[in-house]
Formats: sequence, C-alpha cells, structure tokens
Amino acid sequence: MKLPQGRGYLAIPGPSVMPDRVLTAMHRPAPNIYQGDLVKLFESMLPDLCAVARTEHNVATYIANGHGMWEAALMNTLSRGDRVVCLTTGMFGGGWAAVARRLGLIVDEIDFGRNDTIDPEQLIYHLRTDTDRKIRAVLVTHVDTATSVRNDIKAVRDAIDATGHEAALMVDCIASLGCDRFEMDAWGVDVTLAASQKGLMTPPGMGFIFFNDVADQMRETADLVTPYWDWRPRINPDKFYEYFGGTPPTHHLYGLREALTMIVHEEGIEHVWARHQRLAEAYWAAFDVWGQGGPLRMNIADGALRSHAVTALTLEAPLGTALRDWVEENTGVTLGIGLGMAPMGDPSWHGYFRVGHMGHVNAHMVLGVVGAIDAALKSLGIPHGDGAVEAATKVIAAP
Ligand SMILES: *Cc1c(COP(=O)(O)O)cnc(C)c1O
Repeated sequence: MKLPQGRGYLAIPGPSVMPDRVLTAMHRPAPNIYQGDLVKLFESMLPDLCAVARTEHNVATYIANGHGMWEAALMNTLSRGDRVVCLTTGMFGGGWAAVARRLGLIVDEIDFGRNDTIDPEQLIYHLRTDTDRKIRAVLVTHVDTATSVRNDIKAVRDAIDATGHEAALMVDCIASLGCDRFEMDAWGVDVTLAASQKGLMTPPGMGFIFFNDVADQMRETADLVTPYWDWRPRINPDKFYEYFGGTPPTHHLYGLREALTMIVHEEGIEHVWARHQRLAEAYWAAFDVWGQGGPLRMNIADGALRSHAVTALTLEAPLGTALRDWVEENTGVTLGIGLGMAPMGDPSWHGYFRVGHMGHVNAHMVLGVVGAIDAALKSLGIPHGDGAVEAATKVIAAP
C-alpha cells in the first residue's frame, strides 16, 4: 500500500529543507533596493555570516550558486598560469580542479580516491618538491558531498606550515558550513566558500566568499578577476546598490536573515553542530545494523572521517535506485542519488545513494527516514540486519 501523502521530505544533500519561518519571511512584495529597511537588514547579516564561518575577517556575498564560488575564490586571488594544488576526495574536489584548469591555472591534483580522506604527508612531500615556490594556493573540500568524507582542515594547514611554504589555503565549505564544525580563523584558512542552500537553510542562489588579509593581498595582483566577480565592492555594504553589481537578491536576503537568526541567535552554532552530529550518529547506528545482515555499507568506513551533513551509501546495483524509488513512491521521502561513484548511465551507478541530513532537520525526521528505509529493505527483500530502528532511537534517547 502506497502511503506518500502528507508533507513530503526531500532528504537530499542540498537544497536542504527550508524552515517555514524562512519561507514566510520571503513572502512579501518587492522592497526598495536603494535605501531603507533592506539595506539595514543586509548590514545586520554580515557579522552573523562571519560568526557561522568563525572568522573576524571579510565576507563577500554574490548572486550565484556554489559553482560560482569556485570561480570567485580563484579569480580574486590568482593569475593565468599560476600553479595550485588540489586535494581531491570526491567529485566536488575534482570539479573545482577542473574549473581551475579552465581558468588557465596549472593544477597539481592529488587524488585520494572515493573512500578516503587526505594524507597530509603527500601534501608535505609535494610542497617540498616546489623549491622555487611556484605553488600559490592549496584547494581542499571540507566535506565532499559525493563521498561524504570530512577532511581535517587543520591538518592541511599544519602540513603547509611544516614546509614553511606560503601557499594560501582555500576551503570549499559549501556542504559543511552550518553543519560540521568549521573554524576559519583558528584553523588558518585564508579563503572559505559557501552557498545558501545547504546548512544555511535558504533557497539556492546566494554564494559567499570569506577571506582574510593574506587573500586580499593576493587580490592586488590577481589578473583573473572580472568586474562582476571582484570581491572589493562586496565588502562595502554602505554602497548597497554597487555591492551586488546591480539588483540585490531581495527575497533571498529576507530568508537568509531569518535563517541566521535561528542559527546564530536562537540555537547557537555550537548546538547546531552538536545536533547535526547526534542526528548523523542515529543514521549511522541504523546503517551499521542493516549492514551486519546484508549488502548496505557506508561509503566512509571510519565514522571519525564522516560528515555530519550527508552520508553516502552503497548497495549492490540496481538496489540503490530501487530503494530510493521505493521510499519516494511509498513513504514520501526523497533520498539523494549517488554522485561521482560510478558513471551516470552505467549499470553500476544504481548501486549508490545518499542521505542528506543538513540544516533544518530534527529527530523525528531522521527516525521517520530510518523507518522508511527499513520498510523498503523489507518490501524489496534486500537482506539486512534486524534492529536498526531501535539502534537509531537509542542514539536519540541518550542524554
Ligand atoms: C553543493 C556543492 C557544490 C556545488 O554547489 P552548487 O550550488 O550546486 O553549484 C560544491 N561543493 C560542494 C562541497 C557542495 O556540496
């Protein structure tokens, strides 16, 4: 019997669930974009954005998605022909490296595969071979949303410092900001990339670059920068009309203001991180139990290396797609497709799926999805261990 009516749940790793408060805040007529409330509202958000990224430095805001931020970060700091190192741990790291190449940068890509994290020793070795200091930046993805690995950013900074190299550290936090602990200043990150539609619980369409003085110094000589992507006008909210290079993203700003109030002023970022961790652990407890009696596996075996925002899973093809289809049709939950684990269209692609648990998520949503997957395994006759729902409720019940 199909039971998908009621409120559906998009449990994919972005766009994430938006709080009704965010949606309501956006439901209004177009505001004056030259002066008045919107200008003040925007100024009030900048310190809150910096609080989420744990930086006292600058944030530049763009009308763009995460792919736009990949370009913005590189264009404001680098020149055609510059060399960068990209530490790749999945499809998103590889995507950023590809963008860097197309911008005319020379990219040394070190690929750590699809089931593992970065080995800092390899970065140290690579930077030591750069005796004439040609490498200008190290690019790394905090959480690769395709593999669900969470990389240790402080360890990357320590590796750079251990060699005495002056390469800047740039981190893609598009999946992790507002979900997994991230400490831009304390971890020595020079440039941080984020977007609105994941941990920030707002529709896709806004991107953020946080940058410190080291990065702004690089901006002096960067010849890749174009007028629209230049971050310089975007650190001056007094000139609101120039800030966005034209019309601001009016309704997104109202939505984001509400989301930041919830994250920074009501729940608090430390609790937001702790909530994501607990909810992720509830999922992992269930995945572990199912896996003990069947083919389901988490892509990242070591829980210490897993993101709290998303979990990537494998089942034998075609069972991953069959399970996703079943829960959507029968329970109203939409799970994420596998990305970058197998070529799309290849039969093996159907062995992968992902569960997003980022942003506006609570315990009953997680337990509901665990129950829905349990029902799918039973209905589809996929072998699985028993007791997963109870394992998840125990994690939620713990003090
Ligand atoms: C989602 C995501 C991106 C791409 O963001 P878009 O808004 O889809 O362009 C890049 N990197 C990571 C780590 C992501 O999770």
